[in-house]
Amino acid sequence: MVEKYWKNLYNKKYKYFVLNSRIINEMDDNLWLIELESALLDDCNVNDIYAICRGKAIPESLRPDVWQVCLDVRHKSDQMSLFNEIFDLPFQNTLREDCQAIVDRIGNDDEDKVSVISDLESILTFYCKNRNFLYESDNGWIELLLPLLALKLNRSDTYNLFEAIRDTYIPKGCKPKGNVFHVFRLLILYHDPELCTMLDTKKITPDLYSMQWFQCLFASSCSLTVILSMWDLYFQHADPFMVFFLALIILVNGRDLILEMKDATKEDLIKFLSNMPCALEPDDVVDFCSLAQYYSVKTPSSFKTDFLKALYGSQGEKAPHIEPCSVSQALCLPVSVYELVENSSLELNTSDTVRFFLVDCRPAEQYNAGHLSTAFHLDCNLMLQEPLAFSTAVQGLLNAQRQAIEANSNAGGEHLCFMGSGRMEEDQYTHMVVASFLQKNTQYVSLLTGGYLSIHDYFGDHMADCLEDHDAKKCIVCSKNNVELRNAGRTRQTHEDKRDQPRPTSDIFSRFSAVMKLKSSEVKDKLFDIITNPSNGATVNPHSNLGQSTIQDRHVSATERNGKRYRNVAPVFSIDDENDDHYNENEVKDSPDLISSKLAGDAKEIVSLTQYLKSPDIINAFRCQEVHMNGYMYDSHLIISATHLIVLRELGRGQAQIIVRRPLSSIVKITAKKRHRDLITFKYGFPDGDGLLITDMDRFLIPNASEATAIVSKHIVQTLDGSKLT
Ligand SMILES: [Zn+2]
Repeated sequence: MVEKYWKNLYNKKYKYFVLNSRIINEMDDNLWLIELESALLDDCNVNDIYAICRGKAIPESLRPDVWQVCLDVRHKSDQMSLFNEIFDLPFQNTLREDCQAIVDRIGNDDEDKVSVISDLESILTFYCKNRNFLYESDNGWIELLLPLLALKLNRSDTYNLFEAIRDTYIPKGCKPKGNVFHVFRLLILYHDPELCTMLDTKKITPDLYSMQWFQCLFASSCSLTVILSMWDLYFQHADPFMVFFLALIILVNGRDLILEMKDATKEDLIKFLSNMPCALEPDDVVDFCSLAQYYSVKTPSSFKTDFLKALYGSQGEKAPHIEPCSVSQALCLPVSVYELVENSSLELNTSDTVRFFLVDCRPAEQYNAGHLSTAFHLDCNLMLQEPLAFSTAVQGLLNAQRQAIEANSNAGGEHLCFMGSGRMEEDQYTHMVVASFLQKNTQYVSLLTGGYLSIHDYFGDHMADCLEDHDAKKCIVCSKNNVELRNAGRTRQTHEDKRDQPRPTSDIFSRFSAVMKLKSSEVKDKLFDIITNPSNGATVNPHSNLGQSTIQDRHVSATERNGKRYRNVAPVFSIDDENDDHYNENEVKDSPDLISSKLAGDAKEIVSLTQYLKSPDIINAFRCQEVHMNGYMYDSHLIISATHLIVLRELGRGQAQIIVRRPLSSIVKITAKKRHRDLITFKYGFPDGDGLLITDMDRFLIPNASEATAIVSKHIVQTLDGSKLT
């Protein structure tokens, strides 16, 4: 049932989007793979990978490298070598039995089983010893490790990946009643208050159903194929909070089904909820992750900063204590003053970010002694003293909000941020106002941490310029600073709302799941913007043209993205390594020619090997192996003529095929692997601005690599010099 639901939902909403992105994918299929290969050979980082892949499926052969780069463990030392191979932990038997049980459940071949169990136990035993951790059943470690074993790396590399994922992406305190789950609940409440309330009523806290999701990033619930492609995107996004939004999407997508189960038993509902991710299929992963990303952008972000240290970081370290009232007791999602103020000064063309509608709930006399110009005043005292006037004021608020949104005003946003004074005596009433909005299932409700006090502090000396109507004599912060005028504002005046004539309320409250209900084309646009422009969702141009931006980005990416990689390289040709040799500075003429001559020529022609090698044009020939992108190696000959680099592949019986003919002048870079000096990559392309646009590459294992590259280099220089003369 869930499965079907999931599919339907996506089919309806994302068909168009998926279709479009597939066409684009096919168009530049080869180019991006070459770029990715090229980047992986160099010292690239997670941003390079992200910019190149942009959500495309990573080929299996490149996945281990990609993950190692993304998790920054490429140059990590071999920690497993410190392992004494003694399996003597107090909980060793439990660990062994658990490994055995899980592997049995998966049902590998018997041969495989033994080695998988042994890998699991060794790595986890070493993890406990190395980091001084205790293993407990169902802590998610085994599930988290299994997909890593599928990469078939050596134990040491697998261990480093595992440790990095645990430290970077698994929230600390994934245990019953842990802070993780309080934060998760606040996010559910923020986006789907009705669902949150229903689960609260049933006393189903998120730890009861989502613990495994967080402990092993869904590895225990989803198929290996799903996990591998989900993690591809996850590690590229490099946002540890993504798991919260993935978990949120699981719930929000199934919300109707969950709400229908309001009469089910608690146990049944928990079972249903925990199993929801099982319905994910490989085809869903991209949509799933883009939706999570979309929700992340649609959520105030300061909670991440507030909770980052408490939730993430090296697993062994004690999490700094989060004050109990800040998470477990929080009424709704907290927003920091930094986010509120910076948000209201943002440019308005960024429709995909959070925009706040600030509701100042302080008593009138405090509001009148200083407030933000963008604030709507809703006197919290009215709620108890004059309920009718209060509900009129609320309607006025909703009208004002709607008008501000329509007018695209700086003060207008869908996200209601409530603020109090920052003092308990008034804020108890502020909290009641907020609670009344939540009871009505109002979406996007947050509370400014520290209230007016924090705004006052934030502006510091500029406070008088930044606050409207600020009156130092009456402002509670200023007067407290001057004299201890306590409880000065106790006399409460009734307050007439002078902002808006009350009008019948709009359907603002029914704007539930507005995002999910958006027309598919709108969603498509938004998602695509997020996907193509993930690192700065805040400055996305919602009207950017799909195809156009893809093409331009390729140019930009090749030169700027890897600034470090290409910036110090001679414009035309270099041998890459620690010691770059700059051979030439002049420009390659007619670069389009280079491309076309590569494509034309005698490529694919079949020749007699001995005959061909006797040809007088040949300056030198090296036996080598061509290392294909898919990992296959072909017995080949690298042939150097005065103008070309030719690759002959042996077909047997004295025959060979011309694989490519590359003009020497199109070679812009020759790189050697640091650890494998004989593995040589020739990169082709042309100068583009200050950098190089790499258009293709070939890779070879050449026994006399240095000799071969020296000769090639020499002739490249001669070719270039020659072209300079003519
Ligand atoms: Zn003041």
